[in-house]
Formats: sequence, structure tokens, C-alpha cells
Amino acid sequence: NIRVRFAPSPTGFFHIGSARTALFNWLYARHTGGTFVLRIEDTDKERNSEDFLNVIYDSLKWLGMNWDEGPGVGGDYGPYRQSERDAIYKEYIQKLFDAGRAYEKDGAVWFKLLGERYETYDDHRKKTVEKVKVAPTVIDDLIRGRVERVEDEDFVIVRSDGSPVFHLVNVIDDIAMKITHVIRGEDHLSNTSKHVELFKAFGAPVPHFAHIPLILKQNGPGKMSKRDQGALVEEYQRRGYIPEALVNFLSLLGWNPGDDREKMPVAEIISLFDLPGVNQSNARFDDKKLAHMNMTYVLELPPDDFVARAKAYFARHGTFAAGMPDENYLREVLLLSQPKIKGIEDLPGYTEYFFTENFPLNEKAAAKIMGKGEPKTRLLELAGALKTVDFSNDLVIEEAIKKLAADKGLGFGDYQSIARLAVSGTNVGPNLTGMFRVLGRDRVMARIERFLA
Ligand code: GLU
Repeated sequence: NIRVRFAPSPTGFFHIGSARTALFNWLYARHTGGTFVLRIEDTDKERNSEDFLNVIYDSLKWLGMNWDEGPGVGGDYGPYRQSERDAIYKEYIQKLFDAGRAYEKDGAVWFKLLGERYETYDDHRKKTVEKVKVAPTVIDDLIRGRVERVEDEDFVIVRSDGSPVFHLVNVIDDIAMKITHVIRGEDHLSNTSKHVELFKAFGAPVPHFAHIPLILKQNGPGKMSKRDQGALVEEYQRRGYIPEALVNFLSLLGWNPGDDREKMPVAEIISLFDLPGVNQSNARFDDKKLAHMNMTYVLELPPDDFVARAKAYFARHGTFAAGMPDENYLREVLLLSQPKIKGIEDLPGYTEYFFTENFPLNEKAAAKIMGKGEPKTRLLELAGALKTVDFSNDLVIEEAIKKLAADKGLGFGDYQSIARLAVSGTNVGPNLTGMFRVLGRDRVMARIERFLA
């Protein structure tokens, strides 16, 4: 039975890199029918915060990465927060003492490597250090392939203040929680030889390792950091992103299904995902690609789902704080807008003129439209033609405009831009006749008159 874990330290906001690590673990568990464990590595009392922890829980849930064992869920190997596992660590440390693999020095506890000892001058640290003659530690990484590292100095496992270090508790928990595959960021590859030596010293099987490539920042060299624009997961939640779109996008940061498929429902990703498919090369974050992925998901939402998400967004952002518009009217506006927006966050601005007569005029669009032909004359003609038209049907409105254009020897386009400008204040928007139908004749006529006045 495959057991993987996501082991975040709640010392900062939950960012894209962490979410991708969590996702690869979750996908691997779901792909193999294994178990996905959530373990909180909260030993650093100074830097941990419950707020950060809650953001981790919320973001994982929002992204649909449910954990099989961990905080709030329980499991056979708890507690799942390192801050509650002191007694377990003490037992394991004792095992190392009993096996002659730990000793005390300068108030700290050290891990003892096996092999012949010798002293050598370390140029870098400008002092004499004790080294151990060892064979290199070999890591058969499922992504990186064979990696060798020489771990030739004893290292601290419990600090003089009594707190166990990351390497120790990370390994103890992987043993105690029967983790079979350690899937984590490449930044941990340099720690892995220490971890392998600890696993061996405990007489425990060494898990498989899979170190996933870094995520590079969008512009310029270097790894994406929490401070980079677009790095925080909760930001996308706040902006009304579709979580499935973010999951899809994250899955492609360092993995691909072996062909050029990009948009895939999560069930398809689960069935295709495997560790050998993870790239060795770094992936670059691209917010335009993410926005585009989100748009394709927005486009495909079933109407009820789209409306529900839009309303949730409005509620969170106080969009209609002064009072909700009529249900059916709001629904019509939303469904008219769905095929045209890039994301839910565009809706308040995109639909503003549907809910107020006091909408802004886009000056740039106005200058462009008013500077060409005789727009006011066209608008006047349009007002005349629309007076008796049935506004309950887009096609009837469209036919009326087409007939007017034909009568004048002009095209639909000669009426479209000026009509849109007069009625909505801008040059972009949903289908014009659909917009007219939803606004209704009275409002459309009043706005045209006001524009002409
Ligand atoms: N707490 C470590 C981190 O957040 C976990 C490393 C690991 O997955 O082993 O980087």
C-alpha cells in the first residue's frame, strides 16, 4: 500500500510551490489507490502560526485535495502535528543512543556516522573538523535518477535547547507513519543523504524519493518565492478562480501527460499522473497561462454552477451591498456575460451598467466611435426603428437593426458600436441584441435619448 505525505511547515502563506507539491502527492496517492497523509511540521514555535495553518487547510480543501489521514481526520499514526509528537521523538532518540548512533556534545545531541575518523582543516570554515571516511550515500530518485552525496560529518539532531531538528523529526515521522514515497521539492535533495543515513540507523526501510523540479519566477532567473506576484493560493480563491482550473494548471508545472494535452479534468489527470512523467527541468510560472486556463473552465461551467459561483463572489466582495438585484434579471445578465469574461472577478466591472444608470463612459472608446462617420445620425435612426420592436427576442431585435441598415444601404456594424456606446458606455460587452433584450426596451430607449440629448 502506497503512503505519501504532504508535510508543510505553517511558517508562511500557502504558495503555488507548496500547492504543487501537495498536488503531486495527492495525485500519486489517488492514481495508485494509496493513502495521502497530511502532516504538519510545526516544530518551529517562533515562526509557526495558527493563521498560516488554517490557510493551508482552507487552500487544500478549496483545491479538492482531501487528505485520508491528518488533522481533523485522524488515522492510525497520529497525532499528525509534530508539536504533539514529543513523546514519540524521545523514544526514537533513545533508540539511536541504544544503537550507539547518537551522542551528546556541547549540550546538543549528535548523529554518529559509521566509519574511520580523521581530522582535517576546513578552508571554508577556517578550522579543523572531524570527518568520517564513508562511501557516498546513494539516492535512487524516481525523478532525478541516481544521486550520490557524501555525508561525512556527524550532525546535530537535537539542539542544545532540547528541540529536535527538522532532519530528525521528518525521518522519524516518515518511519512512524509508514511513508513509502517522499515526494517533495528539489530544494530538499541536499538534505536527503542525511535522511537516508537516519533511516538506515533506525533500521527502517528507506522510502522511495521523488524530488520535483523548482518553479521559476515568471520573469527573470531564480525560484519563485512567496513574495512574487501571483504566488499565493488564497489570492486566486479570493479572485474567484475556478479551483479545478488552478489544479489543472499546477499539474502541468513540471509534469505532462506525455502528449500536448493541457486542459484535463482532474479524473483524467489522476489516471495519467505518474512520477516518471515528472520533468527533471524546472517549470516556469506563467500567470497568463493560468488566467487562460481559468477562462476555459469558466466558459464550460454549467449555467447554475456559474451563477452560484458568481453570487458567492459578489457576496464575498460586497458587490451588491446596497441590495441584491432581482434573481432572474441577475441570472440573465450573468449568462449573457459568461461567454465573454476571462474570470469571475471581471463580472462586477463587466456588468456594471446593467445595475445602474450611473455607469461610466469609456472616454477612449467614445472618442474612437464618435470620430468616425455620423454616429449620432445612426443612433437617431436606430431609436426610430426600435420603437415598436419586440424586445423579448434577440433575433427580432437583430432583424430590425439589419432591416434598418439595409434600408439605408449600410451594414449592421454601422449601428452596433454607437448603440453599444450609448447604452453601456463602452465598446466591449456581451452580444448587443442579447444585451438589449436583458436591459429591456424602456431602458435602452431612455439611454439612447439621454446620449443624444
Ligand atoms: N516541512 C518541510 C517543508 O515544508 C517538509 C519537507 C518534506 O516534505 O520532507 O519543506
